[in-house]
Amino acid sequence: MTTNGPSLRPWRDIERRKSRQIMVGGTAVGGDAPITVQTMTNTPTEDAVATLDQIRRCEEAGADIIRVSCPTEESTASFKKIAKAAAVPLVADIHFHYKRALEAADAGAACLRINPGNIGSSERVAEVVRAAKANGCAIRIGVNAGSLEKDLLEKYGEPCPEALIESALDHIKLLQDHDFHEYKVAVKASDVFLAVAAYHGLAETVDCPLHLGITEAGGLIGGTVKSSIGIGSLLWAGIGDTIRVSLSAEPEEEVRVGFEMLKALGLRTRGVRVVSCPSCSRQGFDVIRTVEALEDRLQHIKTPLSLSVLGCVVNGPGEARETDIGLTGGGKGKHMVYLSGVTDHHIESNDMLDHIVGLVEEKAAAIEAGEATAFDPHAEKNATKEPAE
Ligand code: SF4
Repeated sequence: MTTNGPSLRPWRDIERRKSRQIMVGGTAVGGDAPITVQTMTNTPTEDAVATLDQIRRCEEAGADIIRVSCPTEESTASFKKIAKAAAVPLVADIHFHYKRALEAADAGAACLRINPGNIGSSERVAEVVRAAKANGCAIRIGVNAGSLEKDLLEKYGEPCPEALIESALDHIKLLQDHDFHEYKVAVKASDVFLAVAAYHGLAETVDCPLHLGITEAGGLIGGTVKSSIGIGSLLWAGIGDTIRVSLSAEPEEEVRVGFEMLKALGLRTRGVRVVSCPSCSRQGFDVIRTVEALEDRLQHIKTPLSLSVLGCVVNGPGEARETDIGLTGGGKGKHMVYLSGVTDHHIESNDMLDHIVGLVEEKAAAIEAGEATAFDPHAEKNATKEPAE
């Protein structure tokens, strides 16, 4: 949770670095705006239908901003249709071909991902900046340890935090020289130590919003672990205004992982927060299969609320006391259901899944309609002791 002052639970406080706010389309990035979650499409951009299908799935998963690569003239032509139909702002990803940046800015990009130092003459940079200004586009500078400029590699010998930061500052200067300030910056590396050190250094040097990512992090499990350590440690230190988890997995999975990271740190809430045990021989039902099925069937819930699923009474009642809906395994296929932390009724194994899904949907609908609030087990204490944030 973020805070402006001392709170009742200081061990949960994260003091966010104060960055300058910019707009990516209608979405604020930086300042006190919520940390946004991004992903990137991997369909051919020339195929507007397939790309929009993927964008819809990412929007459904909660993506705030989506990046779409524009390597060809055909792709920027298609980008125009895609940007018109997308509900979230789109970032056009450009490498080297500055003309694609001009086309994408005209085609409705909310942001251009381009490194001004890579596109040639100062006149070209000026053209891109003119196009960005004329179309209200932001620019994202994306420094990557894998494609550092040759002179910096020669100067530093290898990719190191100082080299990444210097590269970022060089690109930033080019934009500032053209009086352009609507930019955010990333200094990514696949090495967690390198990326984290570079972000820390950059955060102390500039005031623009920072886009966090551990690039080429790996597959769903390995990449999630690596990203959670890298992005998670930065977020915990208060650094980062927008994040992209790079996984060799479907883009909507990246969005889910990004949100889980923010949820774990109390920086954002969305959907059902599931508390569940690993299960053991004491379990009264198959916890693993139940949680898998519940997570799958509850993906459509966007309202923040909590659900605990525990196999037995060892930890079940304690966790259920802290959640909107609790399920604790009991003997002979009969399990206890808790509502807002209090024991309520029993349910049998065969009816359990449909029943819990129904309860979560009901509670989410009641919260949406303003007839209920998400359960806060410490509400009374908070009301009397915790200063307003
Ligand atoms: S809550 Fe019960 S079933 Fe789950 S891991 Fe703990 S002891 Fe085992």
